[in-house]
Parts: sequence; C-alpha cells; structure tokens
Amino acid sequence: MKFLLFLKKGFENFFQWFLILLVIVLFLAVLAYLIAALNLPFREETTVVTKGNLVRLNPTPTIFPPASPVPTQTPTPVPTLTPKEILKRMNEKYGQCRFVPILMYHHLLTNDEAKAKGAQNLNVTPEVFESQVNYFINKGYQTIFLDELMDGLKGNRQLPAKPLVITFDDSYKELYYVLFPLMKIKNFKATVFVISQFLDGENYLSWSQLKEMASSNLLEIGGHGLNHLVLSEKSGKEFIRNQIDSSQKIINERSGRTVKVFAYPYGAYNATAEKVLREAGCTAAVRSSGGVNPVCAGLPYEIPRIRIGNAALSNFGL
Ligand SMILES: [Zn+2]
Repeated sequence: MKFLLFLKKGFENFFQWFLILLVIVLFLAVLAYLIAALNLPFREETTVVTKGNLVRLNPTPTIFPPASPVPTQTPTPVPTLTPKEILKRMNEKYGQCRFVPILMYHHLLTNDEAKAKGAQNLNVTPEVFESQVNYFINKGYQTIFLDELMDGLKGNRQLPAKPLVITFDDSYKELYYVLFPLMKIKNFKATVFVISQFLDGENYLSWSQLKEMASSNLLEIGGHGLNHLVLSEKSGKEFIRNQIDSSQKIINERSGRTVKVFAYPYGAYNATAEKVLREAGCTAAVRSSGGVNPVCAGLPYEIPRIRIGNAALSNFGL
C-alpha cells in the first residue's frame, strides 16, 4: 500500500514537471516567433527610386564570385628593331657598318628582246632603268664603286652622304649600248661582274668594249667566275680557287685593271669561297639577295644586294 502511494506521488510530481516544461517550451516558441517577426522587415530586399531609376539598396549577395575573365592569349610581341638598333648591333659584331643600297641588275633589253631571249626575269627595260637613274640623282644619291665602299667602311676614305652602288651581273653586250652612254651623260658609276670565259661571245661584251668602258673611270670590273658555275662547298677548294683566281687573272690581263671585287654565281657563297677570295686579295663579294641591309667592314664577303627589277626605287625605301 505504501508502495502504491509512493508511485502516485511520483506520477503527480512527474506531471507537474511535465507541465512546467511544456509552458517553458511554449514560451520559448512564442518568443522565437516574435523575434523572427520583428526581424523580418530588415531581411527584406528594399528598393528606392532615385531619379527615375530603381536602385537596389541591399542586392542579393552573389554567392559565387563572378567568373574571372579567361585571359586572352596575346601573342608574344616580336621585338621589332629599328634600323638604328640593327646598325648598332651589327657595328658591335662586324665593325663599321652602314646602310648602303647596292642594286643588282642583269639585262637592259626591251620587253620584246627580253622575251626573245627568255630573259624577262632578269630584265629591266632601258626606259625604266633611265627613270630609276633620274630618281636616285634627284634624291641626292652619289654612286660609288664597291671597293670604294669597303675602303670607306674601313675608315680609309670619306664616303658621300648618300652612297649608292649599282651592279650588273654577267656582262651582257647591251651594257655597252644602253648603260655606257647613260653613265657618261648622267655621270654615274657602276660595277660590272664579268664571266671571263664568256666575253667576246654573242650575247656578251667584248674585251675591247669592256676596256673602253673602264677607261671612262666610271666602271668598276668585278669577277663572276670563269664560266658561271656554282661555287658549292662540295665541289672542293681547288675548283673554287680555279673559278676565282683564274678568272681574276684573265680579267686583269685582258682589261689592264686589277679586279678586287666578286659576285657569287647564282648567289651561292660558303666559307671555302670566302677564304679563297681573301687569299686572292679581293676586298668584297656580293650575294644575289639580302635586300636593304647594312654593309659591314667585318663582313666583306657576304654583302647583300637589292634585286630591283622594274619596280620603283621608292618601293625599297630609297
Ligand atoms: Zn650571274
């Protein structure tokens, strides 16, 4: 009986505590609701109209940062050197250098004559050539020989303010009829590279014409090999020496002039040819390409030339 009374009292106590707990929970729930209700206006997104524009005061925060823009692959800039910078670098490497245009010509035929010989690629018509001569005279260029240019770069002679070298390869016969009269009238210098075994041939200058042209002191004679064969490294030093030395000797004997400059047949140059030219006492050798580039005292056997063709000289920045 005593035990039953104890259980009853315990149940009453439990019920009391349960009620107290329930009241507390309800109170907390009402309190939480009130707090939530009071906070609500501050959470809302509010807007205000300024000068007709709707402005968000607390815009929705961006959860993810805006995607960073994919960097555009910009090409690595290739440093473009100015002519002054090119000259500075070459001066440091090859001694005294200077931008001197060296023009390369071959035939001076009319279009019909050039077509008949299949020489259109190597031809500049007499009319165009004369207009080019008038152009460089008007622009104040002064023609010099190739040997004079190298002498000037070495500091042995004063070079004109605007030097220009005019060269003709292969010594074709029309040079006597087209080039030579114009040289005398306009008083300009030119260099002719002679294929020594071809002179006196049907399409080439005769030795007497060459001598006469040289006697004007307006013509520099250069070598262009014995018979216009490629001076390849593979052909060996003896072959190269024969092509350079023998042609030089023949020209010296037949023209009465000392040949000091050379043009590589087909423009093919190599270390052996340069060594032979140095041993033969040549002061300069020209290539068939290279365009408008500095000519250097320390690089006398790789001189660039401008293949001018029928284009205007102004196209080459001259
Ligand atoms: Zn040639």
